[in-house]
Amino acid sequence: MNSFLISKYKDVEPYVPGEQPRDKKYIKLNTNESPYPPSEAVIKAVKDSAKSLQLYPDPACRDLKAALAESLKLKPENILPTNGSDEVLSLSFMAYAHDEKPAYYPDVTYGFYDVLSGLFGVKANHFALEDDFTVDIEKYCGLDSGLIVIANPNAPTGIAISVDKIERICKESPDCIVLIDEAYVEFGAESCVGLVKQYPNLIVSRTYSKSMSLAGARLGYAIANENRIIELETLKYTLNPYSVNRSALVAGCAAIEDMQYYKNNCQLVSETRDRTAEKLKSLGFELTDSKTNFVFCRHPGIPAGVLSDELRKAGILVRHFTSERTNDWLRISIGTPEDMCALTDALEKILNGGCI
Ligand SMILES: *Cc1c(COP(=O)(O)O)cnc(C)c1O
Repeated sequence: MNSFLISKYKDVEPYVPGEQPRDKKYIKLNTNESPYPPSEAVIKAVKDSAKSLQLYPDPACRDLKAALAESLKLKPENILPTNGSDEVLSLSFMAYAHDEKPAYYPDVTYGFYDVLSGLFGVKANHFALEDDFTVDIEKYCGLDSGLIVIANPNAPTGIAISVDKIERICKESPDCIVLIDEAYVEFGAESCVGLVKQYPNLIVSRTYSKSMSLAGARLGYAIANENRIIELETLKYTLNPYSVNRSALVAGCAAIEDMQYYKNNCQLVSETRDRTAEKLKSLGFELTDSKTNFVFCRHPGIPAGVLSDELRKAGILVRHFTSERTNDWLRISIGTPEDMCALTDALEKILNGGCI
């Protein structure tokens, strides 16, 4: 095949996002979006921002840095707003990992880490999760140099680890950057943001995509020691100084003002998750202990691929990752209570051998 691509990119494996089909209306439980819309104040701020879209956004993101710093009780110098938290991840891989500075992360985790390793020529060390999908943190202690990446809670397993374990990793691998991906932390896990003041090797990545109903705005941020922020920000200015657009910036500030609305939504999602988990257990499913806005489950009787296909016929999309360790499992995002009733009703019919 003819290709103009330079050789080092010939074998890159792109990330495969959850599908967004257009053939009919589905109940979408495959991409971990919030089932709830942004708050009224955010919608208004975004509408108003349209009047100024002839102007570039503030590349230093000063208002949003200040607002986030205040809400996190840190300094603006500890914050870097980004185009989704995926940009925190890509800047970090670019900044801190290479063939001689490897990356270390679990064998079952967010697929984007492998994609970035491929893109930046990073040697990736995959540390196997235990049989129950928990992280053995000893594996991450005493490492020489490079980039440790742990999603906490992990995806797609949903399992969280405690802050004292993360602190041990920061302390016992002091020459490694420890990147903790907190994309789902608002749904019941403990944040390690409080450790940033003490550990200059810690970077926390956060996103507005899941808990703040802004997946479409592409807004995330890094929280770290100010020297790490300078390093990441230098790369941001090198690659795309205006990576966070004007509407996203004002949406981010307005959302912080409406924190109670978002906290209530996260609470609602967490309660819906726990009720869904109970119902799935009663249908014979096995589940991990998820602290996220999705459940990770398998059924001893029916292969996950079959369940996923049958659900799709019933108009419900879920995510099936076909790697060896996840092939039996389904990741199901938490929607509204009504969405989840539709899900469990459909599963009940499938399990009873009936057609839908
Ligand atoms: C969704 C997700 C992200 C990326 O979120 P953005 O939309 O880029 O902010 C990062 N990490 C994990 C584990 C995720 O599931």
